[in-house]
Amino acid sequence: METRIGTGYDVHHFTDGDAVWLGGVEIPHNRRLMGHSDADVALHALTDALLGAIGEGDIGIHFPPSDPQWKGARSAVFLRHAGDLVARRGGRIVNVDVTIVCEAPKIAPHAAAMQATIGEALGIATSRIAIKATTNEKLGFIGREEGIVAMASASVEVPRVD
Ligand code: MG
Repeated sequence: METRIGTGYDVHHFTDGDAVWLGGVEIPHNRRLMGHSDADVALHALTDALLGAIGEGDIGIHFPPSDPQWKGARSAVFLRHAGDLVARRGGRIVNVDVTIVCEAPKIAPHAAAMQATIGEALGIATSRIAIKATTNEKLGFIGREEGIVAMASASVEVPRVD
């Protein structure tokens, strides 16, 4: 086995609404995030981190925004697919780490629920899942609350093939 890592980044902008999906959890808010799916930036970044770790392209290749079947989709479907690709290689996820950057909503009260949802989708213990959050100190587009950014990294063990 060899250990591999991947990283992911995503951003979605706010529009009118009353809740945001973050880390697979619906959080009441005075806006929602715009996107073809549920616009869950955290799960999109995490999906890309897992895909990156196994060199399987990115979320847009597996789930094209132009494909109507993903309209309004729960992003847990995307995450589960990335986890399945790791498993199909005979690999396992060592740990994942997600950072959400926003002024609001507050993430900490929902972090445990996000860990549970991600753990369920990936079939791993919540002790292998870190959810972190920070504000952008009111700077730039995040500071003006125009959108939310998420970054993620993932470590996997897979059979060595070369
Ligand atoms: Mg996205």
